[in-house]
Amino acid sequence: MTQSESVAIERLRAIGREFHGRGWSLGTSSNYSVVASRAPLELLITVSGKDKSALGVDDFVRVDATGRPCDGSGRKSSAETLLHCTIAALVPGVGAVLHTHSVWSTLLSGADEHAGRVRIAGYEMLKGLEGITTHDTTAEIPVFANSQDMPTVAAELRERFARLDWSGPRPPHHGFLLARHGLYTWGRTLDEARRHVEILEFLFEVAMRSRQMIAPTPLPLASASRQQLQQ
Ligand SMILES: [Zn+2]
Repeated sequence: MTQSESVAIERLRAIGREFHGRGWSLGTSSNYSVVASRAPLELLITVSGKDKSALGVDDFVRVDATGRPCDGSGRKSSAETLLHCTIAALVPGVGAVLHTHSVWSTLLSGADEHAGRVRIAGYEMLKGLEGITTHDTTAEIPVFANSQDMPTVAAELRERFARLDWSGPRPPHHGFLLARHGLYTWGRTLDEARRHVEILEFLFEVAMRSRQMIAPTPLPLASASRQQLQQ
């Protein structure tokens, strides 16, 4: 293991503890990766089925561009590894990909699945996303249908992202959602990817809470209470 891989693993373990504590990576959900090599493309990614609050130094595996383990360790990566590899191959300059399962991303992605995207506009915190310099803008986060068939999701991701222009100072998207499942985001560095999780999770909560304030779900009243109200 190289020195930079050891540093990345320690950082990813700390991120697991933090994200678990903040409710974004509960149980064995979520997976995290860093780009270990650009040519050929190889990622260092969390192994399958590990509690993210207690990642050990051996809970990572190196995979190739197709998501297959390539370090001879015999460790198995998450089923969602292919999505990390697809993002790293599609988006220029990606150094890390983080995937989380928060309450707010689960709710909001389910609410907007029919539209195929979440739009968030006008908030100061949007400036925490790479290339955004004003609150007076809209961030669009694509929503894909959830599936256990990762090659199909990866093909949809390629179809939607490959035709976009990623060369400008502001990327067309900073992440995407799987409906009723969670968030994928990335960054040129692990710190940038971590910041994107933090900013997007804040924005998802604000968006969902503000909708609930505008159109609160009515609580069912017991028949006795209903009679009292009618009197
Ligand atoms: Zn997941």
